[in-house]
Amino acid sequence: FREELVVKTIQELNELIEKAREFIPYGKVASYIPALARANKKDLSVAVYLPDGRHYEAGDTSTKFTLQSISKVIVLALVLMDRGEDYVFERVGMEPTGDPFNSIAKLEKTSAGKPLNPMINAGALAVTSMIKGINVEDRFDRLMDFVRLLTGNPELSYSEEVAKSEFETAHLNRSLCFFMKEHGIITEDVEKLLDLYTKQCSIEVNCLELAKIGLVFSLNGWDPVTKQQVIPEKIAQICNTFMVTCGMYNASGEFAIKVGIPAKSGVSGGVMGAVPRRFGIGVYGPSLDEIGNSIAGIKLLELLSKHYNLSIF
Ligand code: GLN
Repeated sequence: FREELVVKTIQELNELIEKAREFIPYGKVASYIPALARANKKDLSVAVYLPDGRHYEAGDTSTKFTLQSISKVIVLALVLMDRGEDYVFERVGMEPTGDPFNSIAKLEKTSAGKPLNPMINAGALAVTSMIKGINVEDRFDRLMDFVRLLTGNPELSYSEEVAKSEFETAHLNRSLCFFMKEHGIITEDVEKLLDLYTKQCSIEVNCLELAKIGLVFSLNGWDPVTKQQVIPEKIAQICNTFMVTCGMYNASGEFAIKVGIPAKSGVSGGVMGAVPRRFGIGVYGPSLDEIGNSIAGIKLLELLSKHYNLSIF
């Protein structure tokens, strides 16, 4: 985003969106969480947030959507701040997986039921169980405050409807929890953990707010708007690395080749990107590919990456 390009940026973003839109029909809106099935499949929007405060948006960026798996990277940052690296990585691994995000298969094969990484559901549930606080409400309040700080929006909240819908249907996530409880990876009550996890996944943002969170990660934890180091540099670097190796589930390898930026997706259709030292990106497109990533959103990021030469590799 060199200075002379700025005037053209919104027009360029609109052009890229129009190209990416062609891929929407090839995907499907997530339906395993019933409330998510109500999303408008045709939505596609993007926001880019620069360190000097300038931001650009294209598409209908007022639409709110839930973080879903994007919350995993934010909660990981909070928990690393709460507990330190040693404690966290004794209970969750650092290796990518070729299995789907909700798979239980590897839990039985890795040592002592330890989940492979914090970006798959098993690992994320283990990480959520490490959020400090006296009860679920207190722990969720601490997380909400952290996300409000990252977005700069003190009004940010969560969708009770989406949280409830997931809580009632989260049989697979329950079984991941019970398996890990058997192995002492988690110790708390499974229903309480699911209550906290489904609320975490239901935090609502728009594209610009997502881009702002991405911006903080892109600057290794520094928030240029409030001029605060909101995440310690080392922790932000760990999160960025997980985004590269595991952020797009079992499509992270292809994404690294085609797009090449730290990014995290969620089944709501959101994707957060963090272009190191340059800017944050928020994308929303609820039509998903088979792996659970925004089908047009990924295409859009691919086009953006080519157009602005964003790959870190
Ligand atoms: N809440 C979702 C789940 O646990 C998050 C998964 C995702 O976004 N991939 O199934």
